[in-house]
Amino acid sequence: MQEVAVLGGGLVGASLAYRLACHGAQVTVFDRADTGQATAAGAGILPPLDHFIGVQAVLPLLRAARQYYPELLAVLAEDGELDTGYDVIGALQVATNDVELGELAHLERECVARREAGFAHIGELSRLDGAGARKYFPPLAQSIRGALHATGAARIDGRRLLASLRRALQKRGGRWQTASAEVALAGGRVQGVRADERLWPADSVAIAAGAWSASLGERLGLPLLVRPQRGQLVHLELPGSDTSRWPILLGFGTHYLLSFPPNRIVVGATREDSSGFDASVTAGGVHAVLETALRLAPGLARARLSELRTGLRPLSGDGKPILGASALYPNLYLATGHGGYGLEVGPYSGALVADSILGKAPAVDLSPFAPSRFGVASAR
Ligand SMILES: Cc1cc2nc3c(=O)[nH]c(=O)nc-3n(C[C@H](O)[C@H](O)[C@H](O)COP(=O)(O)OP(=O)(O)OC[C@H]3O[C@@H](n4cnc5c(N)ncnc54)[C@H](O)[C@@H]3O)c2cc1C
Repeated sequence: MQEVAVLGGGLVGASLAYRLACHGAQVTVFDRADTGQATAAGAGILPPLDHFIGVQAVLPLLRAARQYYPELLAVLAEDGELDTGYDVIGALQVATNDVELGELAHLERECVARREAGFAHIGELSRLDGAGARKYFPPLAQSIRGALHATGAARIDGRRLLASLRRALQKRGGRWQTASAEVALAGGRVQGVRADERLWPADSVAIAAGAWSASLGERLGLPLLVRPQRGQLVHLELPGSDTSRWPILLGFGTHYLLSFPPNRIVVGATREDSSGFDASVTAGGVHAVLETALRLAPGLARARLSELRTGLRPLSGDGKPILGASALYPNLYLATGHGGYGLEVGPYSGALVADSILGKAPAVDLSPFAPSRFGVASAR
Protein backbone atom coordinates (compact mmCIF):
# COMPACT_ATOMS: atom_id res chain seq x y z
CA MET A 1 0.00 0.00 0.00
CA GLN A 2 1.38 3.41 -0.98
CA GLU A 3 2.10 5.71 2.01
CA VAL A 4 1.52 9.42 1.27
CA ALA A 5 2.03 12.47 3.50
CA VAL A 6 0.12 15.66 2.70
CA LEU A 7 1.41 18.96 4.09
CA GLY A 8 -1.52 21.29 4.60
CA GLY A 9 -5.12 20.53 5.52
CA GLY A 10 -7.05 23.26 3.73
CA LEU A 11 -9.56 22.32 1.05
CA VAL A 12 -6.88 21.42 -1.51
CA GLY A 13 -4.86 19.14 0.80
CA ALA A 14 -7.98 17.51 2.25
CA SER A 15 -9.45 16.80 -1.17
CA LEU A 16 -6.14 15.36 -2.39
CA ALA A 17 -5.86 13.16 0.69
CA TYR A 18 -9.44 11.95 0.43
CA ARG A 19 -9.07 10.96 -3.22
CA LEU A 20 -5.92 9.00 -2.35
CA ALA A 21 -7.67 7.25 0.52
CA CYS A 22 -10.61 6.39 -1.77
CA HIS A 23 -8.10 4.61 -4.01
CA GLY A 24 -6.49 2.60 -1.26
CA ALA A 25 -3.47 4.71 -0.30
CA GLN A 26 -2.45 5.15 3.34
CA VAL A 27 -2.58 8.91 3.89
CA THR A 28 -1.58 11.26 6.69
CA VAL A 29 -2.45 14.96 6.55
CA PHE A 30 -0.26 17.32 8.58
CA ASP A 31 -2.01 20.60 9.25
CA ARG A 32 -0.82 23.49 11.41
CA ALA A 33 -4.30 25.12 11.54
CA ASP A 34 -2.89 28.60 10.92
CA THR A 35 -4.98 31.65 11.65
CA GLY A 36 -5.56 32.94 8.16
CA GLN A 37 -6.27 29.55 6.55
CA ALA A 38 -8.01 30.62 3.34
CA THR A 39 -10.53 27.77 3.36
CA ALA A 40 -11.91 28.82 6.74
CA ALA A 41 -12.41 32.40 5.55
CA GLY A 42 -13.43 31.91 1.91
CA ALA A 43 -16.81 33.31 0.94
CA GLY A 44 -17.96 30.27 -1.03
CA ILE A 45 -18.93 31.63 -4.43
CA LEU A 46 -18.93 29.20 -7.34
CA PRO A 47 -19.76 31.87 -9.91
CA PRO A 48 -21.49 31.68 -13.27
CA LEU A 49 -18.46 33.10 -15.03
CA ASP A 50 -14.92 32.89 -13.76
CA HIS A 51 -15.46 36.27 -12.25
CA PHE A 52 -12.05 36.58 -10.66
CA ILE A 53 -9.92 34.45 -13.01
CA GLY A 54 -8.30 36.50 -15.74
CA VAL A 55 -6.03 33.71 -16.93
CA GLN A 56 -7.22 31.76 -19.99
CA ALA A 57 -5.11 28.69 -19.22
CA VAL A 58 -7.17 28.06 -16.08
CA LEU A 59 -10.48 27.79 -17.95
CA PRO A 60 -10.32 24.08 -18.95
CA LEU A 61 -9.47 23.30 -15.34
CA LEU A 62 -12.34 25.46 -14.12
CA ARG A 63 -14.85 23.80 -16.47
CA ALA A 64 -13.84 20.33 -15.32
CA ALA A 65 -13.73 21.47 -11.68
CA ARG A 66 -17.36 22.55 -11.80
CA GLN A 67 -18.38 19.23 -13.36
CA TYR A 68 -16.45 17.44 -10.61
CA TYR A 69 -18.29 19.09 -7.70
CA PRO A 70 -21.44 16.91 -7.89
CA GLU A 71 -19.22 13.83 -8.33
CA LEU A 72 -17.25 14.65 -5.18
CA LEU A 73 -20.44 15.32 -3.22
CA ALA A 74 -21.85 11.96 -4.35
CA VAL A 75 -18.73 10.12 -3.14
CA LEU A 76 -18.86 11.98 0.17
CA ALA A 77 -22.53 11.04 0.50
CA GLU A 78 -21.58 7.36 0.11
CA ASP A 79 -19.34 7.90 3.14
CA GLY A 80 -22.28 9.41 5.02
CA GLU A 81 -21.13 13.02 4.61
CA LEU A 82 -23.99 15.23 3.43
CA ASP A 83 -23.28 18.46 5.30
CA THR A 84 -21.22 20.51 2.83
CA GLY A 85 -23.25 23.70 2.40
CA TYR A 86 -23.37 23.23 -1.39
CA ASP A 87 -26.43 24.72 -3.08
CA VAL A 88 -27.25 26.00 -6.54
CA ILE A 89 -28.81 29.42 -5.92
CA GLY A 90 -27.97 31.45 -9.05
CA ALA A 91 -26.27 34.82 -9.28
CA LEU A 92 -27.20 38.38 -10.10
CA GLN A 93 -24.66 40.64 -11.74
CA VAL A 94 -25.92 44.16 -11.12
CA ALA A 95 -25.23 47.41 -12.98
CA THR A 96 -25.23 50.67 -11.04
CA ASN A 97 -24.73 53.08 -13.99
CA ASP A 98 -24.90 53.31 -17.79
CA VAL A 99 -21.36 52.10 -18.34
CA GLU A 100 -22.00 48.96 -16.30
CA LEU A 101 -25.31 48.48 -18.10
CA GLY A 102 -23.34 48.33 -21.36
CA GLU A 103 -20.94 45.83 -19.77
CA LEU A 104 -23.87 43.59 -18.84
CA ALA A 105 -24.62 43.05 -22.52
CA HIS A 106 -21.00 42.07 -23.10
CA LEU A 107 -21.08 39.73 -20.11
CA GLU A 108 -24.25 38.07 -21.36
CA ARG A 109 -22.65 37.39 -24.75
CA GLU A 110 -19.60 35.94 -23.01
CA CYS A 111 -21.81 33.72 -20.84
CA VAL A 112 -23.63 32.39 -23.90
CA ALA A 113 -20.33 31.67 -25.67
CA ARG A 114 -18.93 29.91 -22.63
CA ARG A 115 -22.06 27.84 -22.17
CA GLU A 116 -21.78 26.72 -25.79
CA ALA A 117 -18.16 25.76 -25.04
CA GLY A 118 -19.34 23.34 -22.35
CA PHE A 119 -19.55 25.52 -19.24
CA ALA A 120 -22.91 23.98 -18.36
CA HIS A 121 -22.86 25.44 -14.84
CA ILE A 122 -23.79 28.90 -16.15
CA GLY A 123 -27.42 27.77 -16.48
CA GLU A 124 -30.25 29.89 -17.86
CA LEU A 125 -29.66 33.61 -18.43
CA SER A 126 -32.13 36.47 -18.19
CA ARG A 127 -31.93 40.27 -18.16
CA LEU A 128 -33.80 42.15 -15.41
CA ASP A 129 -34.56 45.77 -14.65
CA GLY A 130 -33.98 47.20 -11.16
CA ALA A 131 -37.40 46.14 -9.86
CA GLY A 132 -36.92 42.61 -11.23
CA ALA A 133 -33.52 42.37 -9.51
CA ARG A 134 -35.00 43.53 -6.18
CA LYS A 135 -37.51 40.66 -6.31
CA TYR A 136 -34.53 38.32 -6.05
CA PHE A 137 -32.56 40.45 -3.58
CA PRO A 138 -34.87 42.83 -1.69
CA PRO A 139 -32.25 45.09 0.03
CA LEU A 140 -30.88 46.24 -3.37
CA ALA A 141 -30.67 49.98 -4.05
CA GLN A 142 -33.47 51.72 -6.00
CA SER A 143 -30.73 53.11 -8.24
CA ILE A 144 -29.76 49.68 -9.68
CA ARG A 145 -30.09 50.09 -13.45
CA GLY A 146 -30.33 46.46 -14.45
CA ALA A 147 -29.00 42.97 -13.83
CA LEU A 148 -28.07 39.70 -15.48
CA HIS A 149 -29.40 36.61 -13.72
CA ALA A 150 -27.67 33.24 -14.20
CA THR A 151 -29.39 30.25 -12.64
CA GLY A 152 -26.41 27.88 -12.39
CA ALA A 153 -24.19 29.68 -9.88
CA ALA A 154 -23.69 27.84 -6.61
CA ARG A 155 -22.41 28.41 -3.09
CA ILE A 156 -20.28 26.22 -0.88
CA ASP A 157 -19.44 26.48 2.80
CA GLY A 158 -15.67 25.93 2.82
CA ARG A 159 -15.57 25.06 6.51
CA ARG A 160 -18.34 22.47 6.26
CA LEU A 161 -16.95 20.88 3.09
CA LEU A 162 -13.51 20.68 4.69
CA ALA A 163 -14.93 19.11 7.86
CA SER A 164 -16.81 16.55 5.72
CA LEU A 165 -13.67 15.67 3.77
CA ARG A 166 -11.69 15.27 6.96
CA ARG A 167 -14.26 12.96 8.56
CA ALA A 168 -14.64 10.95 5.34
CA LEU A 169 -10.86 10.60 5.07
CA GLN A 170 -10.69 9.27 8.61
CA LYS A 171 -13.53 6.82 7.90
CA ARG A 172 -11.37 5.47 5.07
CA GLY A 173 -8.40 4.98 7.38
CA GLY A 174 -6.60 8.29 6.74
CA ARG A 175 -4.89 10.13 9.61
CA TRP A 176 -4.98 13.82 10.50
CA GLN A 177 -2.12 15.27 12.57
CA THR A 178 -2.39 18.81 13.89
CA ALA A 179 1.27 19.76 13.59
CA SER A 180 3.73 21.95 11.78
CA ALA A 181 5.63 19.82 9.29
CA GLU A 182 8.38 20.03 6.72
CA VAL A 183 9.62 17.77 3.97
CA ALA A 184 12.41 15.44 5.07
CA LEU A 185 15.23 14.78 2.60
CA ALA A 186 17.97 12.17 2.59
CA GLY A 187 20.49 11.64 -0.19
CA GLY A 188 18.68 14.05 -2.52
CA ARG A 189 15.39 12.14 -2.19
CA VAL A 190 12.23 12.94 -0.31
CA GLN A 191 12.08 10.54 2.56
CA GLY A 192 8.88 11.66 4.26
CA VAL A 193 7.89 14.40 6.63
CA ARG A 194 9.40 15.78 9.80
CA ALA A 195 6.80 16.76 12.40
CA ASP A 196 6.44 16.52 16.16
CA GLU A 197 10.19 15.94 16.39
CA ARG A 198 10.11 12.69 14.48
CA LEU A 199 10.35 11.41 10.93
CA TRP A 200 7.18 10.13 9.29
CA PRO A 201 8.40 8.03 6.34
CA ALA A 202 6.37 8.26 3.14
CA ASP A 203 6.65 7.00 -0.43
CA SER A 204 5.38 10.38 -1.70
CA VAL A 205 4.84 13.80 -0.18
CA ALA A 206 2.42 16.48 -1.40
CA ILE A 207 2.76 20.16 -0.46
CA ALA A 208 -0.69 21.77 -0.28
CA ALA A 209 0.15 24.45 2.25
CA GLY A 210 -1.73 27.36 0.67
CA ALA A 211 -0.07 30.76 1.13
CA TRP A 212 2.67 29.13 3.22
CA SER A 213 3.83 26.78 0.44
CA ALA A 214 6.74 28.94 -0.76
CA SER A 215 8.70 28.63 2.48
CA LEU A 216 8.38 24.83 2.37
CA GLY A 217 9.70 24.87 -1.21
CA GLU A 218 12.54 27.25 -0.33
CA ARG A 219 14.03 24.77 2.13
CA LEU A 220 14.17 22.24 -0.71
CA GLY A 221 15.66 24.60 -3.27
CA LEU A 222 12.33 24.84 -5.11
CA PRO A 223 11.34 28.34 -6.19
CA LEU A 224 7.55 28.35 -5.70
CA LEU A 225 6.07 31.74 -6.48
CA VAL A 226 3.19 31.81 -4.00
CA ARG A 227 2.45 34.77 -1.78
CA PRO A 228 -0.33 35.68 0.63
CA GLN A 229 -3.07 38.15 -0.26
CA ARG A 230 -5.27 39.06 2.69
CA GLY A 231 -9.04 39.05 2.26
CA GLN A 232 -11.43 40.40 4.87
CA LEU A 233 -15.12 39.56 5.02
CA VAL A 234 -18.02 40.67 7.18
CA HIS A 235 -20.85 38.30 8.11
CA LEU A 236 -24.23 39.93 8.70
CA GLU A 237 -27.55 38.63 9.98
CA LEU A 238 -30.80 40.04 8.70
CA PRO A 239 -33.45 39.42 11.36
CA GLY A 240 -36.90 38.53 10.02
CA SER A 241 -35.65 37.67 6.51
CA ASP A 242 -35.14 34.22 5.01
CA THR A 243 -32.01 34.66 2.87
CA SER A 244 -31.55 30.96 2.10
CA ARG A 245 -32.51 31.21 -1.60
CA TRP A 246 -31.22 34.70 -2.35
CA PRO A 247 -28.80 34.64 -5.29
CA ILE A 248 -25.14 35.60 -5.13
CA LEU A 249 -24.90 39.33 -5.75
CA LEU A 250 -21.96 40.47 -7.88
CA GLY A 251 -21.05 44.06 -8.62
CA PHE A 252 -18.51 45.20 -11.20
CA GLY A 253 -15.31 45.10 -9.13
CA THR A 254 -14.15 42.63 -6.54
CA HIS A 255 -17.01 43.08 -4.07
CA TYR A 256 -19.93 40.71 -3.60
CA LEU A 257 -22.67 39.52 -1.27
CA LEU A 258 -23.43 35.87 -0.65
CA SER A 259 -26.35 34.58 1.41
CA PHE A 260 -26.59 31.48 3.57
CA PRO A 261 -29.55 30.08 5.53
CA PRO A 262 -31.32 31.10 7.61
CA ASN A 263 -30.58 34.84 7.43
CA ARG A 264 -26.82 35.23 6.97
CA ILE A 265 -25.20 37.46 4.38
CA VAL A 266 -21.47 37.35 3.72
CA VAL A 267 -20.05 40.63 2.49
CA GLY A 268 -16.67 40.57 0.82
CA ALA A 269 -13.93 41.07 0.24
CA THR A 270 -10.70 43.04 0.39
CA ARG A 271 -7.70 42.09 -1.76
CA GLU A 272 -4.63 43.25 0.14
CA ASP A 273 -1.40 42.46 -1.64
CA SER A 274 0.91 43.93 0.97
CA SER A 275 -0.55 42.13 3.99
CA GLY A 276 2.22 39.55 4.27
CA PHE A 277 1.16 36.79 6.68
CA ASP A 278 -0.71 39.21 8.95
CA ALA A 279 -4.25 37.83 9.16
CA SER A 280 -5.67 40.65 11.31
CA VAL A 281 -9.06 42.21 10.75
CA THR A 282 -8.55 45.96 10.24
CA ALA A 283 -10.81 49.00 10.56
CA GLY A 284 -9.98 49.98 6.97
CA GLY A 285 -10.82 46.52 5.64
CA VAL A 286 -14.19 46.34 7.38
CA HIS A 287 -15.00 49.86 6.24
CA ALA A 288 -14.13 49.06 2.62
CA VAL A 289 -16.36 45.99 2.38
CA LEU A 290 -19.31 47.52 4.23
CA GLU A 291 -19.14 50.77 2.30
CA THR A 292 -19.48 48.99 -1.07
CA ALA A 293 -22.10 46.55 0.20
CA LEU A 294 -24.33 49.29 1.59
CA ARG A 295 -24.04 51.28 -1.61
CA LEU A 296 -25.27 48.27 -3.61
CA ALA A 297 -27.82 47.15 -1.03
CA PRO A 298 -28.72 49.94 1.41
CA GLY A 299 -31.49 47.74 2.82
CA LEU A 300 -28.72 45.93 4.71
CA ALA A 301 -28.11 48.91 6.99
CA ARG A 302 -30.37 47.34 9.63
CA ALA A 303 -28.50 43.99 9.50
CA ARG A 304 -26.64 42.81 12.61
CA LEU A 305 -22.91 42.39 12.42
CA SER A 306 -22.31 38.78 13.43
CA GLU A 307 -18.70 37.88 12.53
CA LEU A 308 -15.52 39.19 10.92
CA ARG A 309 -13.33 36.77 8.99
CA THR A 310 -9.95 37.10 7.39
CA GLY A 311 -7.86 34.72 5.31
CA LEU A 312 -4.75 34.61 3.15
CA ARG A 313 -5.34 33.73 -0.49
CA PRO A 314 -2.43 31.71 -1.94
CA LEU A 315 -1.63 33.85 -4.99
CA SER A 316 0.74 32.36 -7.55
CA GLY A 317 3.18 34.45 -9.56
CA ASP A 318 1.26 34.05 -12.85
CA GLY A 319 -2.30 33.49 -11.62
CA LYS A 320 -2.24 29.77 -12.44
CA PRO A 321 -2.23 27.08 -9.77
CA ILE A 322 0.88 24.99 -9.22
CA LEU A 323 0.01 21.34 -9.75
CA GLY A 324 1.87 18.11 -10.27
CA ALA A 325 5.22 16.48 -9.70
CA SER A 326 8.31 18.50 -8.87
CA ALA A 327 11.02 18.27 -11.53
CA LEU A 328 13.65 18.11 -8.81
CA TYR A 329 12.37 15.34 -6.54
CA PRO A 330 10.41 12.57 -8.32
CA ASN A 331 8.27 11.69 -5.31
CA LEU A 332 7.37 15.28 -4.32
CA TYR A 333 4.11 16.83 -5.57
CA LEU A 334 2.62 20.32 -5.40
CA ALA A 335 -1.00 21.46 -5.18
CA THR A 336 -1.23 25.13 -4.38
CA GLY A 337 -1.53 28.70 -5.72
CA HIS A 338 -5.31 28.88 -6.26
CA GLY A 339 -5.59 32.52 -5.21
CA GLY A 340 -9.22 33.65 -5.04
CA TYR A 341 -10.76 30.62 -6.80
CA GLY A 342 -9.61 27.72 -4.62
CA LEU A 343 -13.02 26.81 -3.24
CA GLU A 344 -14.25 26.47 -6.79
CA VAL A 345 -11.27 24.73 -8.39
CA GLY A 346 -9.27 23.41 -5.41
CA PRO A 347 -11.22 20.19 -4.77
CA TYR A 348 -10.67 19.12 -8.37
CA SER A 349 -7.01 20.16 -8.41
CA GLY A 350 -6.48 18.04 -5.32
CA ALA A 351 -8.06 15.07 -7.07
CA LEU A 352 -5.90 15.55 -10.18
CA VAL A 353 -2.68 15.64 -8.17
CA ALA A 354 -3.83 12.58 -6.23
CA ASP A 355 -4.28 10.79 -9.56
CA SER A 356 -0.71 11.72 -10.55
CA ILE A 357 0.57 10.28 -7.28
CA LEU A 358 -1.39 7.10 -7.95
CA GLY A 359 0.27 6.83 -11.36
CA LYS A 360 -2.96 7.59 -13.28
CA ALA A 361 -3.01 10.06 -16.15
CA PRO A 362 -4.83 13.18 -14.88
CA ALA A 363 -8.04 13.97 -16.80
CA VAL A 364 -6.82 17.53 -17.53
CA ASP A 365 -3.43 18.41 -19.03
CA LEU A 366 -1.38 19.63 -16.07
CA SER A 367 1.56 20.94 -18.11
CA PRO A 368 0.44 24.63 -17.93
CA PHE A 369 0.52 24.27 -14.15
CA ALA A 370 3.91 22.55 -13.82
CA PRO A 371 5.82 23.57 -10.68
CA SER A 372 9.04 23.84 -12.75
CA ARG A 373 7.77 26.90 -14.67
CA PHE A 374 9.23 29.12 -11.96
CA GLY A 375 12.66 27.64 -12.55
CA VAL A 376 14.43 24.76 -10.88
CA ALA A 377 17.18 25.26 -8.36
CA SER A 378 19.55 22.52 -7.28
CA ALA A 379 18.62 19.63 -5.04
CA ARG A 380 19.59 20.00 -1.38
C1 LIG B 1 -11.66 36.36 1.97
C2 LIG B 1 -11.57 35.22 0.99
C3 LIG B 1 -12.65 34.95 0.17
C4 LIG B 1 -12.58 33.90 -0.76
N1 LIG B 1 -13.68 33.60 -1.50
C5 LIG B 1 -13.63 32.59 -2.39
C6 LIG B 1 -14.79 32.25 -3.15
O1 LIG B 1 -15.85 32.85 -2.99
N2 LIG B 1 -14.69 31.25 -4.08
C7 LIG B 1 -13.52 30.56 -4.27
O2 LIG B 1 -13.49 29.68 -5.12
N3 LIG B 1 -12.42 30.83 -3.52
C8 LIG B 1 -12.45 31.83 -2.60
N4 LIG B 1 -11.34 32.13 -1.86
C9 LIG B 1 -10.09 31.41 -2.13
C10 LIG B 1 -10.03 30.07 -1.41
O3 LIG B 1 -10.48 30.22 -0.09
C11 LIG B 1 -8.58 29.55 -1.43
O4 LIG B 1 -8.05 29.57 -2.74
C12 LIG B 1 -8.52 28.09 -0.94
O5 LIG B 1 -9.22 27.96 0.27
C13 LIG B 1 -7.07 27.68 -0.76
O6 LIG B 1 -7.04 26.42 -0.15
P1 LIG B 1 -5.66 25.76 0.26
O7 LIG B 1 -5.99 24.41 0.80
O8 LIG B 1 -4.70 25.87 -0.86
O9 LIG B 1 -5.07 26.73 1.39
P2 LIG B 1 -5.56 26.97 2.88
O10 LIG B 1 -7.01 26.81 3.02
O11 LIG B 1 -4.98 28.27 3.31
O12 LIG B 1 -4.89 25.79 3.71
C14 LIG B 1 -3.49 25.69 3.85
C15 LIG B 1 -3.23 24.92 5.14
O13 LIG B 1 -1.86 24.56 5.19
C16 LIG B 1 -1.43 24.64 6.56
N5 LIG B 1 0.04 24.73 6.61
C17 LIG B 1 0.84 25.70 6.10
N6 LIG B 1 2.14 25.42 6.33
C18 LIG B 1 2.15 24.24 7.01
C19 LIG B 1 3.19 23.44 7.54
N7 LIG B 1 4.49 23.75 7.41
N8 LIG B 1 2.85 22.30 8.22
C20 LIG B 1 1.55 21.94 8.36
N9 LIG B 1 0.52 22.69 7.85
C21 LIG B 1 0.83 23.81 7.19
C22 LIG B 1 -2.13 25.89 7.05
O14 LIG B 1 -2.18 25.92 8.48
C23 LIG B 1 -3.50 25.75 6.39
O15 LIG B 1 -4.40 25.08 7.24
C24 LIG B 1 -11.38 33.14 -0.89
C25 LIG B 1 -10.31 33.41 -0.04
C26 LIG B 1 -10.39 34.43 0.89
C27 LIG B 1 -9.24 34.68 1.81
